[in-house]
Amino acid sequence: MKKHNYSAGPCILPQEVFEKSAQAILNFNDSGLSLLEISHRSKDFVAVMEEARALVIELLGLEGKGYQALFLAGGASLEFVMVPYNLMKEGGKAAYLDTGTWASSAIKEAKLFGDTVIVASSKEENYSHIPKGYTVPSDADYFHCTSNNTIFGTQMKEFPSVDMPLVCDMSSDIFSRVLDFSKFDIIYAGAQKNMGPAGTTLVIIKEEILGKSGRKIPSMLDYEKHIKAESMYNTPPVFPVYASLLTLQWLKNLGGVAAVENLNNAKAALLYNEIDRNPLFKGAAAVKDRSNMNATFLLNDVAHTETFDVMWKAAGISGIPGHRSVGGYRASMYNALPLESVQVLVDVMKALETKV
Ligand SMILES: *Cc1c(COP(=O)(O)O)cnc(C)c1O
Repeated sequence: MKKHNYSAGPCILPQEVFEKSAQAILNFNDSGLSLLEISHRSKDFVAVMEEARALVIELLGLEGKGYQALFLAGGASLEFVMVPYNLMKEGGKAAYLDTGTWASSAIKEAKLFGDTVIVASSKEENYSHIPKGYTVPSDADYFHCTSNNTIFGTQMKEFPSVDMPLVCDMSSDIFSRVLDFSKFDIIYAGAQKNMGPAGTTLVIIKEEILGKSGRKIPSMLDYEKHIKAESMYNTPPVFPVYASLLTLQWLKNLGGVAAVENLNNAKAALLYNEIDRNPLFKGAAAVKDRSNMNATFLLNDVAHTETFDVMWKAAGISGIPGHRSVGGYRASMYNALPLESVQVLVDVMKALETKV
């Protein structure tokens, strides 16, 4: 039986993506060859890369606005390094919003390159909310934020208007909601949270911001080199890129980002309503900053843990234990998770109430 998969990442993908990508490993495009044994420079794979890059731009409404999409390797974590390398001037300054573990990892890397200002942090409150009302120093080379805090279950609902390049780590909520994506100059996302398997990182760049840091950048870390090589500077991660393309096609057929946002809103409302209604549970994050992707919640009485755990496992649910830094539970409701799976979890929470 297929499980109700709430894993935070790598995570659930559409079933048709699993099926079609499995088929491509056996026989890609009816070529008699596996996707894994053909040249990345072959016509068939170049077409995959081109379509994937173009679909990203189309789905985010960025056509004709000077953006390039790249499928790189090294995870979102390598972007923590590439962003300052490409944007921070020698002796320059960068500004960061500290909203969680990933944001603070990005800050740690930026500090290797120069003056890194933390404009605000919710660390003292265990990142249970998104700081607001901060000011960004006007002489910063860029401002970096994290749209969705996967571990703590908070999500930025508004983004500041800044005079410098705006960079955002959207690893865990890319393609989940409509935003004015043209506000951003760099968006990056590890594929494995909402787009595909682990092994590739999507980077979307407004080309005009590049080439201004004055730094000598190693080729593999240089966005301009990757753009010039059309995301094929070296052998790209062919399988993750192909599976990501299948997910993007699935999303387009569904009606695009706006359509999946409606679904995501319905799933989040269903679960948060139950967390708030059910006297046995409480949410972990500030209500106004709650993430529609990762819902963190706790049992009011930890004595019910074992009973609840037995019940959700019996219902075919997988992947909801919380991250060690929050405890309790985390239900990750990425694009491919069906509403029915959320209903199953809510039914278990209701059943616990009648049982204890
Ligand atoms: C998972 C995650 C990362 C780390 O991604 P890797 O691809 O493993 O490097 C970074 N930022 C956010 C917001 C994440 O959720």
